[in-house]
Amino acid sequence: MNKDFLIVGFGLAGLSVVRHLEINNTSFDIISNNSQLSSKIAGGIINPVAVKHMKPVWNVEVFLPYAKLFYQSLDKQLSGEIYKNKSLNVFIHDVAQENNWYQACDKPRLSPFLSPEVLTNKNQTLLTDKIGEIKATSINLPILFQCLKQYYQKHWIDDTFQHNNLKVDKSSISYRNKIYKHIIFCEGFGVGQNPFFNHLGIYGNKGDYIIFKSKKLQIEDLYKAKYFLIPLGHNLYKFGATYQRQPLNHQPSLTAKSQMREALNKMINSPYEIVDQVCGIRPTTKDRRPILGSHSKYKNLHILNGFGSRGVMLAPKLGQMLINHILKETPIDPEVSVQRFHAQI
Ligand SMILES: Cc1cc2nc3c(=O)[nH]c(=O)nc-3n(C[C@H](O)[C@H](O)[C@H](O)COP(=O)(O)OP(=O)(O)OC[C@H]3O[C@@H](n4cnc5c(N)ncnc54)[C@H](O)[C@@H]3O)c2cc1C
Repeated sequence: MNKDFLIVGFGLAGLSVVRHLEINNTSFDIISNNSQLSSKIAGGIINPVAVKHMKPVWNVEVFLPYAKLFYQSLDKQLSGEIYKNKSLNVFIHDVAQENNWYQACDKPRLSPFLSPEVLTNKNQTLLTDKIGEIKATSINLPILFQCLKQYYQKHWIDDTFQHNNLKVDKSSISYRNKIYKHIIFCEGFGVGQNPFFNHLGIYGNKGDYIIFKSKKLQIEDLYKAKYFLIPLGHNLYKFGATYQRQPLNHQPSLTAKSQMREALNKMINSPYEIVDQVCGIRPTTKDRRPILGSHSKYKNLHILNGFGSRGVMLAPKLGQMLINHILKETPIDPEVSVQRFHAQI
């Protein structure tokens, strides 16, 4: 049967466009493989504050409330284990950092998210005297993507999209004898294989997490020093993630593991055992903004990509922006539009 849309790739970007197609009662297929793992292994943290410089995240007032509603509705529909509001506790190392915290508390865009005071740490398994608390949200991405594959079973094609099997003309597209009106590419770092959109300068940045077990470390909230400490339940914790430009593969990195072990030893004071290591490649852009919109020549080919960081918070709103653009011709914010690259073709 012919359909309106084919979605290529189902990570956070693919999920967002698919949800908005459903809202618009539009027919679609999803084709996705496991060549990229970014969304499935990501930390799932929605943090409204850029901690290093104590600044609000770009457009937080727009992206944060929309993302919360988006995941709350998935949580309600799918499992009840996906969405949790949590404190993100930042280790305060010195007086300068403490002063920065208090300065940030005076800023109206930041104060709603921050504890008004730097607090004394009372948990003896954590190696810090002081902590600042941020109101954050944690999305359980492994459970979410596990549930979604089942939920979208009827739409799902478990395969690798072969770009050379695509035939494009002005009003329709055919892929392996099926006709679609539009294709949206949501391939993450896999976009490098896509001849229509591989000129956008999306580059990879590999991130590793270690998963460790510790019975003594009894924490439920999120913690951050150099890396994030994310409780998974059942005495398991995720810790990371690193940033590595090379090699861009899905082999867990030994260098990353030893960096994380060193950082963890400075952060917790309880025995632990590393039980796993996972990694993924962030699809990163030079200007650190996502990329969305339609191809300059083939108007029925579209892209949503470039979520090198904060994809959990940004993808819901930007998926909506792309679908509204395609179905209702509403404009795309120039800061994220693919048109910023068209002049360079
Ligand atoms: C280690 C790590 C930690 C992170 N932590 C956080 C965090 O805590 N908070 C946050 O907001 N962001 C985080 N991020 C960033 C976030 O993961 C990314 O922004 C987001 O996952 C990118 O989603 P995506 O859908 O664009 O790409 P992906 O998740 O890579 O999804 C692309 C999908 O397309 C499929 N695909 C690609 N090519 C083809 C093809 N030819 N045929 C079929 N299927 C194809 C891939 O297999 C994959 O399933 C983290 C990223 C990493 C790597």
